[in-house]
Amino acid sequence: MTAPAFNRNFKPEYGQVDELSPLIRRVVAKNPNPFTFTGTGVYLIGRGDVAVIDPGPTMDEHLDAIEGALGSDEQITRVIVTHTHSDHTAGVAKLVARTGARTYGFGPHGEVPKEDPLDKISFDEYFTPEEKAKIDKEWAEMPDELKREGPDTSFVPDVALADGDLVEADGWTVEAVHTPGHTSNHLCYALTDEAVLFTGDHVMGWATSVISPPDGDLFDYMNSLRKLLGRSQDARYWPTHGPAIDSPQTYVQSFIDHRLEREAQIIEALKPGPSTIKAIVPGIYAEVDKRLWRAAANSVYSHLLAMHRDGRARSDGEPSLTATWSLA
Ligand SMILES: [Zn+2]
Repeated sequence: MTAPAFNRNFKPEYGQVDELSPLIRRVVAKNPNPFTFTGTGVYLIGRGDVAVIDPGPTMDEHLDAIEGALGSDEQITRVIVTHTHSDHTAGVAKLVARTGARTYGFGPHGEVPKEDPLDKISFDEYFTPEEKAKIDKEWAEMPDELKREGPDTSFVPDVALADGDLVEADGWTVEAVHTPGHTSNHLCYALTDEAVLFTGDHVMGWATSVISPPDGDLFDYMNSLRKLLGRSQDARYWPTHGPAIDSPQTYVQSFIDHRLEREAQIIEALKPGPSTIKAIVPGIYAEVDKRLWRAAANSVYSHLLAMHRDGRARSDGEPSLTATWSLA
């Protein structure tokens, strides 16, 4: 398995303002976990008339740091959202209450199915008792809102953006680029003045995106990767988690190749006969942190759903996480 050239060399100074370019500043929230890497990177766009991309979590000291980044003659007039996961949007309401900013995004979160308690996979038996105890302790000590990147169904933008829509202010212009896949409402934002793209969770420097069906969709994700390949004007990406990505088109191609390899691995795993996602994951994700295997199970599920749709895989009964799958 060839992994994309991840760059995990990133040590944020929480609460500090990173001056990244003439139009871009960043404040990283102290909410590190296996999904957010070192935490949520919040971007401030423009000078004077400032937009915030994805405010991040609700902790007051974090929102203080965002507001503290501003000069005395500056104002946050807009909050721009890439997608509705709580590590990106939980702090929107509080920041809007503080600033009166207008909010922009594709729309509310897509379908969130009722949880089926029987359609769950556990990998607990792969952890040693010591590992399990350490994880349980870390989990118990973590504030609820930091536990995962859960859907935020409360966010509704004041201004709904479609693909190609512009957000314009004094001194900068941002173009919305619809990139469904990680979520159905995911937008990247091109800051045309500096030839950079804010990629949210669509393309990240430290890891691949989690694709959780049904709102996460692997077919859409692959098409959204190909869409970025066609945007040669984007010279640098600023993802929400982790460092900047240079030569981004080469990097995006490696993500496409990576997913096609994963699909090939799943096909290999099913060649001997019918199997389950729980049985497939430990084999093909052996090199990945075991704490992420439940997310990996969702990713394998998204591959199988895509293959089910085009007639290459079938499940016993309705497609589900816990079904037995076979090649068609
Ligand atoms: Zn996300």
